Amino acid sequence: MQVTEDIVRNVVSQVLSRMGKPAGTKPTAIPTTSSGVFAEVDAAVAAAVVAQREFEKRPLDDRRKAIDCVRKICKERADELGRDEFEETRIGRLAHKIEKLHIAADRIPGVEFLRTEAVSGEKGIALTEYAPFGVVGIVTPVTHSLPTLAGNAISLLASGNSFVCNPHPSGARIACKGVRLFNEAIARAIGINNLLTIIEKPTLESAQAIFDHRDVRMLCVTGGPAVGRAALRSPKRAVVAGPGNPPVVVDETADLDNAARSIIAGAAYDNNLLCIGEKEVFAVAAIFDDLLVAMARYKAVRLDAKQLEALTRVAFVPAGDDKSKLVVNKDLVGADPAVMAEKAGFRVPADTELLFAETDERSPFVDHEQMMPFVPFVRCTDVDHAIALAKKYEHGFKHTAIIHSRNIETITRMGREMDTTLFVQNGPSTAGLGSGGEGYLSFSIATPTGEGVTTPLTFTRQRRSTTVNAMRVL
Ligand code: NAD
Repeated sequence: MQVTEDIVRNVVSQVLSRMGKPAGTKPTAIPTTSSGVFAEVDAAVAAAVVAQREFEKRPLDDRRKAIDCVRKICKERADELGRDEFEETRIGRLAHKIEKLHIAADRIPGVEFLRTEAVSGEKGIALTEYAPFGVVGIVTPVTHSLPTLAGNAISLLASGNSFVCNPHPSGARIACKGVRLFNEAIARAIGINNLLTIIEKPTLESAQAIFDHRDVRMLCVTGGPAVGRAALRSPKRAVVAGPGNPPVVVDETADLDNAARSIIAGAAYDNNLLCIGEKEVFAVAAIFDDLLVAMARYKAVRLDAKQLEALTRVAFVPAGDDKSKLVVNKDLVGADPAVMAEKAGFRVPADTELLFAETDERSPFVDHEQMMPFVPFVRCTDVDHAIALAKKYEHGFKHTAIIHSRNIETITRMGREMDTTLFVQNGPSTAGLGSGGEGYLSFSIATPTGEGVTTPLTFTRQRRSTTVNAMRVL
């Protein structure tokens, strides 16, 4: 083996890190050539272990510096990285790919989110502090490859962890580019490389190897039902950000103009790739026609029965052994409305935001998480009927539900009934993550496992330190 300068530097940095350096000393580690991108899970985890051991000895300020590297790259290179993601995945909208990187940088909480809880009494004090787990295995979706990775990076670095990522194969190139850029910047800022590691050519086997790896202490998976189930089979603690099928209820008291604008804003965002995005609307008969008229005022195009039938035929394909099941046609996921229309054999203006139509509840667009910029509207007899259908077609994912109503009693009832992680009233779904509403952002909303909108605290172990008969200074 030829001994290169990089190998020598890496060995020196690892030996120094194992000897331990007092917190706050100037870093000595120099980046290796890998910059976090690995062919094999074992090598990625081993590098992430070494990096995390060094990181947890460092002061909080080094965590801030590492996070700042991620935020700065997301902001300053948003145009380039958003375009790369768009060109690789070919789904969604370029402007929103870019915007998601800006909002990840601006609105995902960092070290300030960690807090120490204290109890002080006659017998002394007790502190509860939030410690890192170590290496966390993460899985990211194709719908927001780099934004999810960057968001997980901010949360995990804030809490002192490192990660090994198995990205979606169709978004792996941009994910690897992000990891490389983040690691190089972090290595320059604090002298630790490989805090963020990734598998260059991810497969289901590499995901499983991460789930099974003894040095991976915790999992955070973001995606559909299959990955959630796979992570929950692992004996490790798993944070599962699973699928949704967010329903919207509109009652007779709603501000219809606001309801229409909100439904379009949420469902058209990134061509309806958001897991929180409005997927089907249940509106009461008293305002149904007026709501549809309001929709058409904001660049949403209403389809007639023939167009709806043609679109349904191309948007879903038969699956299963006997072809009796319908599944979403992946070719149309995240497609532009004009492209969807063209595939179905009709034309709409190129700047169309959203397609919509009246359907009945048996339309596959109601039942499936279609992730396309078409929203079905179902006419309901009254608000009880609308809430019952919303509950039925949310499928118990407990993810996101939206209502447009000015009736406090109805809003409260629907909130209780749906029992979802996010419940948005009188705004677009994105308000639930702080875009046009209050609150912080995450691209991993843990639904079945209950952590909600993930934060740095999600990835911590609670540790209590008790001082007996001292330190209470009152
Ligand atoms: P997907 O389920 O096809 O893939 C998600 C990730 O899981 C990918 O990296 C994929 O390679 C991996 N994966 C799939 N099956 C696996 C298995 N059996 N074992 C290990 N890994 C496996 O989903 P997608 O199309 O990339 O993303 C869209 C889905 O993700 C939607 O259902 C959406 O609702 C959901 N999502 C949820 C959130 C949230 O915060 N709750 C955020 C974004 C997306």
